[in-house]
Amino acid sequence: MAKASVRSQRWVVKVGSKMVCDGGPLLMRAWMQQVSELRKKHKVEVIWVSSGAIAWATERTDFKAAQRTLPQKQALSAIGQPLIMDQYNLALQATDLLGSQVLLTAGDMKDKVRRQNLQNVLKELLRWEVIPILNENDAVSTAEIQFGDNDALASQVAVMMKASRLILMTDVDGLYDRDPNNNPDAQLIHYRKKLGSKEMKMAHPKVKSKVGTGGMYSKLLAAERASKAGIVTHMVRGDIPRNLLQIANGQAIGTQVGGHAPE
Ligand code: GLU
Repeated sequence: MAKASVRSQRWVVKVGSKMVCDGGPLLMRAWMQQVSELRKKHKVEVIWVSSGAIAWATERTDFKAAQRTLPQKQALSAIGQPLIMDQYNLALQATDLLGSQVLLTAGDMKDKVRRQNLQNVLKELLRWEVIPILNENDAVSTAEIQFGDNDALASQVAVMMKASRLILMTDVDGLYDRDPNNNPDAQLIHYRKKLGSKEMKMAHPKVKSKVGTGGMYSKLLAAERASKAGIVTHMVRGDIPRNLLQIANGQAIGTQVGGHAPE
């Protein structure tokens, strides 16, 4: 059956620090290949949000202190950010896409003129079929201008850029009905039309990855923000090789919030 003509869709995809650091160059290559296929076969343009600058630098320097001052985190991010971009650029060489780096602070979204500038550059990059790779500009971020984490950044960008989907790729399968760390019978929630207070309470902020700042709670806040703007959110494991294409094909993976229930 002939498919109805498909208009370009826009997705914001966010990958967490643990995925970036553990998956390394091979996983990045699999991601970028999917981004290229999404563009060509599914008419999906992707804005990529990548964490991992601080974690990448921490793994590669002898700076391992558990408690870090803000200037130390800023310095680590300044070291790690070009290193992860090197990896993305290498991964993109195997595709027909060019990458670009956009670093932002929450101030860039709040100020009207800077927000417009940001929108303009993202639209232009997408028009040129270049993939924007975003991260918080941690090197100059201080408490007053921080997003807090890249889940928040990604959801705000998704709303601002009128994305249709927000994909949060993490190191767990999705949202469970109980904490899977303490409950072996915990069931993965495949779909929710909307998030309720039960889910929000369950994803207690103490259930956090040691790498990165997000955790499930910040993902639910991001999904809630996206959902208010009519954006469908998917929380999926980042290391499933064809996860983004599975989502494009309407397959049920991870947890989906909003939209029609997947098959
Ligand atoms: N922006 C931080 C980094 O790249 C990560 C923030 C987060 O994990 O949400 O290292």
